[in-house]
Amino acid sequence: MVEAFCLRCGKVVEPVDGSLFKAAQQHKCDEKDVKRMDELIDKYNLVFSAIPKVCNDGKLLSFLLGELHEKLRQYFPDAESFVLSYSAEHECVMLYVVLDKEPEEARRQLQKFDEEWWLDMVPKYKNLSIHLRLVGE
Ligand SMILES: [Zn+2]
Repeated sequence: MVEAFCLRCGKVVEPVDGSLFKAAQQHKCDEKDVKRMDELIDKYNLVFSAIPKVCNDGKLLSFLLGELHEKLRQYFPDAESFVLSYSAEHECVMLYVVLDKEPEEARRQLQKFDEEWWLDMVPKYKNLSIHLRLVGE
């Protein structure tokens, strides 16, 4: 199913005169949502599919912008980027930590992150899963 959303604030829109394009164009954004979208783009690389899923889930969005991003910076200070995409198959937002290093070392880093922090959070954020993506692999 096609999900139309506003490109400025990420909110899902209903068709206007049967047109989703019109609806997205004419959306009256809440400035607060536009700011959060800017902040999201600043912190993550967003794959298109992730935008409506993240921006329409207030709990997940706050987590991504706040606590989670702090922990990612703390555990992966040398990450090249953090990428958000959406897997329809798993009905899950996928967060990729992009690292340019040896697989062994990267996996140790992820394991530490999982054991010390992330595994306690998983039950609260079942619609998010975190993976490594190694540059050059
Ligand atoms: Zn909007």
